[in-house]
Parts: sequence; structure tokens; C-alpha cells
Amino acid sequence: MTDQPTYGFDTLQVHAGARPDPATGARQVPIYQTTAYVFRDADHAAALFNLQEVGYIYSRLTNPTVAALQERLAALEGGAGAVCCSSGHAAQIMALFPLMGPGKNVVASTRLYGGTVTQFSQTIKRFGWSAKFVDFDDEDAVRAAIDDDTRAIFGEAIANPGGYIMDVRAIADIADAAGIPLIIDNTSATPYLCRPIEHGATLVVHSTTKFLTGNGTVTGGAIIDSGRFDWAASDKFPSLSEPEPAYHGLKFAETFGPLAFTFHGIAVGLRDLGMTMNPQAAHYTLMGIETLSLRMERHVANAEKVAAWLEQDDRIEGVTYAGLESSPYFGRVAKVCPKGAGALFTVAVKGGYDACIKLVDNLEIFSHVANLGDTRSLIIHSASTTHRQLTPEQQEAAGARPGVVRISIGIEDADDLIADLDQALTKATA
Ligand SMILES: *Cc1c(COP(=O)(O)O)cnc(C)c1O
Repeated sequence: MTDQPTYGFDTLQVHAGARPDPATGARQVPIYQTTAYVFRDADHAAALFNLQEVGYIYSRLTNPTVAALQERLAALEGGAGAVCCSSGHAAQIMALFPLMGPGKNVVASTRLYGGTVTQFSQTIKRFGWSAKFVDFDDEDAVRAAIDDDTRAIFGEAIANPGGYIMDVRAIADIADAAGIPLIIDNTSATPYLCRPIEHGATLVVHSTTKFLTGNGTVTGGAIIDSGRFDWAASDKFPSLSEPEPAYHGLKFAETFGPLAFTFHGIAVGLRDLGMTMNPQAAHYTLMGIETLSLRMERHVANAEKVAAWLEQDDRIEGVTYAGLESSPYFGRVAKVCPKGAGALFTVAVKGGYDACIKLVDNLEIFSHVANLGDTRSLIIHSASTTHRQLTPEQQEAAGARPGVVRISIGIEDADDLIADLDQALTKATA
């Protein structure tokens, strides 16, 4: 539906990428549960392998169910193309892969998903890459961190914990001035609340595991390319601008223009890294996205109600939610994510570690899980679980102090959620 860009979000979330199946007329996107695709003849096979013709070869690279999801995500984010992969973490590696190389670095926000901090501070070193973590509210520090080897800037539009909202436009301007791409992890916001490409982002990455699929069924990830970065105009990105030996010297930027990053992600990234999304996962995520706007509206309305109730309760020390007027980031909501500040926040409970543990153990509707962005309300005590291995200083920096719980608000009745928190807080602080 790229030739019909005037449709609204609610229409695109149902229809983009989902034409009736050409073979059967099936109205819903079929799950193409196949590994390989029969070539018409030897010439057809050769053209596909040379990237002279676009088509299906092998499901490590492309699959029609996954392709439908890619098209839908590109439409919802306002991008030129998208590549799906096996998880949000895979999407991050796949996004950096064409940009980085040994000795190169990414300038990253200090306010990131905990798993991303680990991936960036530890694992990518094995590739010879590194990350410099900077407070994205300090624009001079971001500028100062960029050096000749910096190949990307990476941040989250809405970052949890801490109820942080990033000024995407301000950081995009810095990236533009430095001639490097800005990558935004838009998992917590979803394109319904924030469309980073409209704020100048080059690439958007997602953990589709969370709000996009929406009900905690499958892991997945995606990279959406704005199609706006001129890779050929820079000598910093040889994977995209220089000849690719494995495709007879083809230059992705020259051959595919605004789709260079997307084609490289499929033809080189998925081919060689193999972090492929399977068609079943794509199907669940397509189903989830059909109701994304409806769910996000409820997620946000519930989060606003529950956060406001918690904030005024005297058993609570504080709530970090950018949707509350008390938040230092409240002013950025209208600019960055005008439909709401998402559904994640942290709550500091009076009584510290012990009270948090009792709160988690006494809740009845909330599930105690290491996940977010589910239709169900979720809670986790980070200091005793996901952030258990960190030092007290690292826990503090990550917003995971012993006296803090992280909450992901679902789409249940807000009054039931409040009543559940009320009874559990009574037991926790007795
Ligand atoms: C969950 C999450 C990830 C990682 O995604 P997976 O699908 O679990 O690999 C990355 N960023 C954010 C903001 C997340 O919430």
C-alpha cells in the first residue's frame, strides 16, 4: 500500500501488507509455513540469486508472511522498508551490523532497556565495536562524544525505567550535523504514540515481542528504515556504499537507493547472521498490530489513572511516569508522543526491598514476569531479578533501586488494577 500513503493509522494497522492471497483469495495473511520456493526455471533462480529480480528463495532471507509484517511496520512508522528478525536484541545487532566495524563506536543514551545496556557494554566488544553512554539531555555531551569512529547514535523514544522521554528531534539534528544515522528503539512507544522518523530518525528498531504483538505470545524484532540517509555520500559506511564481493561487486546504495539498508539487511544481514523471524511469529504479530491503536489508547488511559492514584497514596514514595505533571519529562510528551507517555513506570514503595517483595507476592491480577507490553498488567522487582547481578551503584543508575518495582499496565479495568494494588500495598506495608 506504499502507493496509497494517505490512509490513516487505524486503516494501515489492519490493511498494510495484507492483500488477499493471490493463490486462494484468503482474506487473512496465510502462514506460509515453508522453507523454500520453487524457481520457475534456471534463469529465474539465477536472477534471484544475483538480486536482479526480487522474489522468494529461502525462508532464512524472505517469507511472504514475514514480508507482509515488514510492509505493515514500514507503513506504520512512515519508513521506506523494514526487515524483521528473531527478537528485539537481534534487531539491534542487525541495525548496527552494516554501519559498524572493528574500532567503530555507537553513542548511546544512558537510559536504555537493561538488556541493551549489557549488549552494548559487553557483548558487542567481541566484534571490536564499542558504545559510549551519554546523558541525552546534555546535548553538548552528545556532541562531544562523537568522534571520527562514531557510526551511529542510539536511544529510546520512551525509556523505562525513569519515565524518560527523549527529545528525538534535538538528537537527530546532532546526528545530521555529524553525518551519522540516528537509531531509535521505539518498543515502549510504538508507532501509535511516537513516529521517530517524523522527528528525524534514520532507523527505528523494535522488539515486536512487546506492545506490537501485544499479548506475550512470540518474540520478534524489526528494523524500519526511513530511506532518507544518503549512504553513498559518505565514506563511513562501505558495506552500503562500496562493492559487495558476495554479490559480484554490487553497490547497495547505488543499486537500491532509499531501500539500500533494507535490501542489505535481508541479502547480507539475514543471509549471514541468520537471525530470522519465523512465519508463525509474524502471523501472531500481524494479528496483534490490527488492534494496536485500540490497545495503546487503553494502555495509556489505564497507566495515567493508576499512576495518578499511586502518586497520591501515602504508602508510595514516588512514581516515575512522564504522563504525570510532576514528571520532569511531562513537557516533552506533547512534542514527542502527543497521544500519551506509554504504559510503563516505576514505583518507589515506602519500606524498601521487603515491602516491594511483599507487594509483588500479594498482587492477584498483576503477573510477576520479566516482560512488558502485554494486555495483562505485569510487575517485576528488578533488584531481585533482572538487575540482581548489578552493584548497588549500577542498580541506582538503571533506576532499579531495591525499593522500586517496575509496572507495565495492561488493558484490564483500571479500577480493578487500583483495587489490587491497594490490597497488596496494605499487606506489604503492614
Ligand atoms: C524487550 C526489549 C528489547 C529486547 O527485545 P527482545 O525481543 O526481548 O529481544 C529491547 N528494547 C526494549 C525497549 C525492550 O523493551
